[in-house]
Amino acid sequence: MKCCILVGHGKGSSGGYDPGAVNGQYHEFRIAREIAKAAAERLRSVYHADSGLLNYDGTYNLPERIARFQDHAFDFLAEIHLNAGDGTASGTEVYYFPGDNAGQAYARNVSGAVSAALEIPNRGAKGSDYFGIIRETVPTAVLVETCFIGKDLDKVKTAAGQLAAGNAIADGIAVAAGLQSSAREGWVQASSAWYWYEDGEPVKDVWRKSDGWWYRLGPDGKMLTGLVEVDGKGYYLNQSRATVGGVYVPQGACVVTDGSGAIVK
Ligand SMILES: [Zn+2]
Repeated sequence: MKCCILVGHGKGSSGGYDPGAVNGQYHEFRIAREIAKAAAERLRSVYHADSGLLNYDGTYNLPERIARFQDHAFDFLAEIHLNAGDGTASGTEVYYFPGDNAGQAYARNVSGAVSAALEIPNRGAKGSDYFGIIRETVPTAVLVETCFIGKDLDKVKTAAGQLAAGNAIADGIAVAAGLQSSAREGWVQASSAWYWYEDGEPVKDVWRKSDGWWYRLGPDGKMLTGLVEVDGKGYYLNQSRATVGGVYVPQGACVVTDGSGAIVK
């Protein structure tokens, strides 16, 4: 799926900075762009979608954004906003073009995911032909009013809140689009240690055989090296990879010898 996450506001229709809704020092544009960035990154990294991000720097005003989506180059777009409201309203709502069933499914899934992640009311999917970014563009489009910049500000004023909102938007889009997340399997390197993942989790205190060699995963899941004792027996797990006597011995591989003492695979 080729999709694009757009940031609302940033540049006014006649040029100049358009902050969108403002609450004290907090501008809708500056919060929405971080949420949009997180959503686009998660769609790419976790769901392997061909996902773009438009208007992070406030380069495109609304007519310029609309002009970018006049053909079928994209399957889907979502423009990210915060709701202005009167200071008392709370919750998330997502707009789609009336009669667009695909748009409605995206809107419903995104509003549900954002509501759950931010623990705010779900005001739901709403059909509307009011927004040009939905009405005048070719791909299936939704406009996400993530939450209200008044009462819900605490939910999205921090980087952590913006990440949570962006991730939820990506998850909602992925559900509607039928995208699968990439569960980790096999060797995964993290902070210079190696782990062996099964069903998305590192296995612990077990032996695993990989490419002909046995490896031991420790109590914290880290691949062990050096001399180790397991169930009263001693083993040598290679400390650094090397080719010796024509045999390539990976790091962590349990070294086994033949009757002459030579290393065998
Ligand atoms: Zn807005």
